[in-house]
Amino acid sequence: MELTSYYNITLVFISILIAVIASYASLNIVSRLRRSSGMVRYIWLTAGAFSLGFGIWSMHFIAMLAHHLSIPVMYDTFLVVLSIVLAVVACAIAFAIVSIGLNRGLFIFIGAAFISAGIALMHYVGMEAMVMDAAIIYDPLLFVLSIIIAFVASLAALYLFFYFEKNANQKYTHLKKIASSLVMGAAISGMHFTGMAAATYESMGIDHNHAHAHSSAAINTTVMGFSIGIGMFLLLTIILASTFLDRRFQQKTDQLQFLDNMYQSIIMTANDAIVLADSNGNIIAWNNAAEAIFYYKENEIIGKNLDVIIPVNYRKAHNKGLKDFIASGKEQIIGKSVELEGLRKNGEVFSIELTLSTLTNDENTYFSGIIRDISERKKNEKKITELVYRDPLTNLPNRRFLNNYLSLSIEQAAINHQSLAVLFIDLDRFKYINDTLGHSVGDHLLVEVSKRMSKYIEKKDMLARQGGDEYILIFPQMNHQHAAKISQQILDELLMPFHFEDNELFISASIGISMYPEDGGEADLLVKNADTAMYRAKDNGKNNYQFFTSDMNDLMAKKMRLEIGLRKAVINNELELYYQPQIHVNTGHIKGVEALIRWNHPKMGTVSPAEFIPLAEETGLIIQIGNWVIETACRQAKEWEIQGYAPVRMSINISARQFQQTSFVDTVMEIIENTKIDPQYLELELTETIVQDPVYAIPVLNQLKEMGIKLSLDDFGTGYSSLSYLKSFPLDTLKIDRSFISTVNESGKDAAIVKTIINMANSLDLNVIAEGVETNEQLLSLKQDGCDEYQGYLFSKPVKALEVQELLQKCMEEKSLEQIAEV
Ligand code: C2E
Ligand code: CA
Ligand code: CA
Repeated sequence: MELTSYYNITLVFISILIAVIASYASLNIVSRLRRSSGMVRYIWLTAGAFSLGFGIWSMHFIAMLAHHLSIPVMYDTFLVVLSIVLAVVACAIAFAIVSIGLNRGLFIFIGAAFISAGIALMHYVGMEAMVMDAAIIYDPLLFVLSIIIAFVASLAALYLFFYFEKNANQKYTHLKKIASSLVMGAAISGMHFTGMAAATYESMGIDHNHAHAHSSAAINTTVMGFSIGIGMFLLLTIILASTFLDRRFQQKTDQLQFLDNMYQSIIMTANDAIVLADSNGNIIAWNNAAEAIFYYKENEIIGKNLDVIIPVNYRKAHNKGLKDFIASGKEQIIGKSVELEGLRKNGEVFSIELTLSTLTNDENTYFSGIIRDISERKKNEKKITELVYRDPLTNLPNRRFLNNYLSLSIEQAAINHQSLAVLFIDLDRFKYINDTLGHSVGDHLLVEVSKRMSKYIEKKDMLARQGGDEYILIFPQMNHQHAAKISQQILDELLMPFHFEDNELFISASIGISMYPEDGGEADLLVKNADTAMYRAKDNGKNNYQFFTSDMNDLMAKKMRLEIGLRKAVINNELELYYQPQIHVNTGHIKGVEALIRWNHPKMGTVSPAEFIPLAEETGLIIQIGNWVIETACRQAKEWEIQGYAPVRMSINISARQFQQTSFVDTVMEIIENTKIDPQYLELELTETIVQDPVYAIPVLNQLKEMGIKLSLDDFGTGYSSLSYLKSFPLDTLKIDRSFISTVNESGKDAAIVKTIINMANSLDLNVIAEGVETNEQLLSLKQDGCDEYQGYLFSKPVKALEVQELLQKCMEEKSLEQIAEV
């Protein structure tokens, strides 16, 4: 007889709910498993197995309570316990397997097999535990179906769960986990109800024996209810505990996630490039600053080797370093900073500062590099050293650099017993070019001069700019002879004209040479002595070289004393003017006088202007002295006029430095006004250096000319200018230099020169004066050549004003005698 049965729907619902909750709890626990190890792992494994095992069991028995059979039912204790044990053990095995190979399908498959086996075994053993007066007959088809349902659903549940788990950072993870729990719940309850559907209960009549045979070991439904209650209690405790722990864990994860996000944003927005690479040097992270520094976008560089940002010549060393580090047994590097070079995407190599750290995890080593672009800083550093050691205009080493190098070279020369030469080079007339043509021309000239001289140096030598128009050359391993030769070559080289814009510039240099070891054992002394020798070269007429000699120091000392004395002389009225008459060749009358300065030194006596005028020019004192000369001479001329002497020309020597003063014309004008001298009796003697720069000179000369002043070219024949060149200058007088006159009767060549100058001057309508006439023969030959005037010891040395008066007096008397004679 087949028995009838019905279900209590509420209990059915509760049973399913229990299956779902148990699934949820145990799946969560399983996910913990993979992150734990040792004891903790076993605890979680046990908890998970119990959770799901009891869940399956509770589901089963609550569902059984929901199932009312028309006969009383008891349960066999042993089999009930066995069913629990089977469920728990099967789940434990399943979870152990699943948690090892979470990502692998096969492990999930085997896990699902064990879980479904657990569910099925529990169910059918649980069914066997029923003690009643009926036999259970299973429909084989539904029986197999129940097992298939259990397997497929648990497989789906596990798969879904771990899929969601893997992508846990997405939204609604909890809901997704609940969904997979529902599927697992479906596996359990689906199996159960299908299994129940497979069963039919065939009454066997009242078989008390059978029932009693088991009575001692059987439990009734009340006990069953308690058991389930306890099971549920255990289950809920586990669930609660696990969710509590889970929340703690989640909080921690959230916190980690937050920190991770924060680090990510810091890394992405950092000013320094942050690059991560794996042990093979493959780039795995690349921030914004790295993009800005190396020009590679994140997506084009990730996965590439670090080699792409390392200049080719460093790659080998870099790769070796990487391998060595890994081979060294993973000692960690934290924040080691080095300065290296990097390679940009556009091929540009630039300076970087790399701070390297390594991180070793399990078997892998990772490299993290913080990279800073220091090319700007490097550039600045270089600029600073250049500023400190290089002359910015010519880019030559400067004085500081030179001193260091010279000291080293001296040490080297001492060791090798070699001699060393120091050349001190000063340009002649540079100040003049700079003042008249402007600084840009001057600068250009300095650069060109440095280029020309650079030709003469080799690697071990050094050319430095000492400042202004001074250069120093150091030649280690150079003897006297060679130094002389090279000095002459440099002098010749500099004589060649320089071209700049429309100017053709001529320059020369003076070179002083000191030798190691004769002239000093220290850098400073060698430079100082070369400088002293250079002054000697200047004194010797410039455009020459001089070796230092010890007597030069005495000379320098004398010069120093002289300079100090000269400053005092101006204040102490030690200066005086002498006058030398200029005589008409044919009449022998005094046409003019040349004012010549004298210095009456309180101790040294009379000092020659040839000695102190160059010094005054060098120091600038010439301006003050020159103005005094003009004023004194003009006052004297006016005085003679007042005293009634026939008016004569007053010739005044003007030095280049005076003439170049922009206030020069005004100063002269002021003096004329003050002294009330008639400008037609005032003559300025200029040297050829003045007229070398016509652009500046001509307008000034014209201004002076307009004032009625006469202009004379002094020392003619010694300079560079040609006669034809003079046409453009508004000159009145030409003075033939003394050097031609002194040999005019001995040297045929000089005689020819004098004659040519006189002819030329006459044709240009210039008054010609011969200087330094000492003999009557000289005068005679000048007369024959048609010279206008002469000046020299033959007539008179330069004399004091009072003596000039006597000469003027005599001249006046002679004139009147001549006039009488004529009459
Ligand atoms: P300088 O302008 O060529 O002056 C002529 C020089 O020749 C004078 O030398 C004069 O004394 C000298 N002298 C004249 N006749 C004879 C002679 O027959 N035989 C010889 N051997 N010498 C003669 P001093 O006075 O010593 O002047 C030397 C130079 O100093 C001048 O050469 C001139 O360049 C400069 N100087 C003199 N006074 C002044 C001045 O007030 N201002 C400037 N800027 N320079 C001056
Ligand atoms: Ca003169
Ligand atoms: Ca002269």
